[in-house]
Amino acid sequence: MPDRRSIGVGTLLRGRRPEHVPRAFWHRLTPLRYAAYFYLLGWAGYGVFYVFGQGNKIIALLCFLLWGAMIWLCGYVPQRIDRRLHRGVEASGYRTCVNCGYSLRGLPDAHRCPECGVEYSVAGLEAAWKNWYASK
Ligand SMILES: [Zn+2]
Repeated sequence: MPDRRSIGVGTLLRGRRPEHVPRAFWHRLTPLRYAAYFYLLGWAGYGVFYVFGQGNKIIALLCFLLWGAMIWLCGYVPQRIDRRLHRGVEASGYRTCVNCGYSLRGLPDAHRCPECGVEYSVAGLEAAWKNWYASK
């Protein structure tokens, strides 16, 4: 059974950030999400065009195959982004802003993120990141 707390293609496409997902990670997925909407809608549009006898069989087949590739990308790209973010979070000793991903190393234990202005505490950051990484 898949972990209900991890995020998958469905969560990505629904476009609403689950509570436990750090904003810093979620915001990095925005370009992929819009590319997926654009592509999937485009394919659906071509499908309708094809069904009504206007399309080309080869193009329809190609679109179908690329549709599979897009779904695969929606699973693969977030993993890559997350791995990169995780490296940064670990390198900073969990002192990374949960809201924007800015490294807070060398800053006071409780302060505001200089990048996005969100208040943080070191204990809160560590708990949030560890909770996120434990969910997968
Ligand atoms: Zn920030």
